[in-house]
Amino acid sequence: MRHSSHLHSSRHGRWLCTASRRKVDLVVEAASELALCRPQPEAGPDIIEDGSVAVHQGRIVAVAKREEIRRRFRGQTVIEAKGRLVTPGFVDPHTHLLFAGSREDELELKLEGRSYIEILKAGGGILRTVEQTRKASLEKLVSRALNTLDRMLLHGTTTVEAKSGYGLTLRDEVKSLKAIKELDLQHRVDVVPTFMGAHALPPEFPDTASYTDHIVKEMLPRVAQLRLAKFCDVFCEKDVFSIEDSRRLLSEAKLRSMKPKIHADEFSRLGGAELAAEVRATSADHLIHASEKGLDNMARAGVVAVLMPGTSLVMMSDRYADASGMTSRGIPIALATDFNPNCMLENMQLVIALAVYRLQLKPIQALRAATINSAAALNVSESVGSLETGKKADLLVFEEKSHRFLGYHFGANSVHTVVKDGRIVVEGFKLAG
Ligand SMILES: [Zn+2]
Repeated sequence: MRHSSHLHSSRHGRWLCTASRRKVDLVVEAASELALCRPQPEAGPDIIEDGSVAVHQGRIVAVAKREEIRRRFRGQTVIEAKGRLVTPGFVDPHTHLLFAGSREDELELKLEGRSYIEILKAGGGILRTVEQTRKASLEKLVSRALNTLDRMLLHGTTTVEAKSGYGLTLRDEVKSLKAIKELDLQHRVDVVPTFMGAHALPPEFPDTASYTDHIVKEMLPRVAQLRLAKFCDVFCEKDVFSIEDSRRLLSEAKLRSMKPKIHADEFSRLGGAELAAEVRATSADHLIHASEKGLDNMARAGVVAVLMPGTSLVMMSDRYADASGMTSRGIPIALATDFNPNCMLENMQLVIALAVYRLQLKPIQALRAATINSAAALNVSESVGSLETGKKADLLVFEEKSHRFLGYHFGANSVHTVVKDGRIVVEGFKLAG
């Protein structure tokens, strides 16, 4: 699939060649479909058939029909994408990437009919992971998460958000965020850090109001001082953090230059969507029980809806977010894995399939939700999420020929090649050395 291009052998030929065609690091050539996923698809065709992409110094320098790219550019390396779909790299905008241990035994409890909140109240769920994460060293947390990032990259994810939230003490939240920073430095996948001290009530505090007070007075200033997080998130839910707790926390986070995100209306209609609009959150996530008014407000405030159909699946719930109600209001929908010890799902292709079957998104909508819209959910749509000149050269070459295979062919990995920052990092379904 890959070969290096060769210059003409004669001196004359070489001169002609370099004079007429700009030499670039990489050309991805002759895709059956280039799915551009641009922010404004109505501005022109969003899919180029028989298209090529020219890449130089980690950036996309041109996207056009094969003939035009061939006329203008000469690639040091060429990926023959003949007959295959090429898309931007996936952006996964909601994961709880960093934790120790696992909770496979809870699957049987769930099969016996215990709810997530019941398991949490019985000392299982998040709190069990908190105990294990507190005991783990930073190095151990990093090495485990690096494996997860490898698996994500193999399935096409090139940017991922990662939340803290299994430490729940100043020391352990800072440790988790430092580990997340380390992941971004060590791994090829870009990792966007979110502080989520308000993930659960730790056993050391009597109620969420007093714990929220502790987060605001002790944790937020330290996280801000160390510049460890771009976003601040809260689990706003009945029996977890109230609307008042969440409003206080997110308002304080904004004062410390962290943008708000919110786990909103996942299990009940608490008003999380309304709060997301009120605090101008970058995204509101889950939204399974969001009210009509909450969605109206989100549309007006420009909040991105992050939907995670994998979560409904592992919760054994038939309730999914109202995606059509969101698109009809003009709310951008992003898709995420929600990777966490209760939802061990790294594969965005499977999330796209679930979105097609359970949220009734068309394959092209699901693809946009997993690229440009999820980039918007992380405020990185200026640099990733679409195939456009000037953006990072993060792109995927699929086994299949068309975006219509997304969701249709599911369960197996269809991403043959991954280019990250202009470098081939996955080839033939394997990590490139
Ligand atoms: Zn979550």
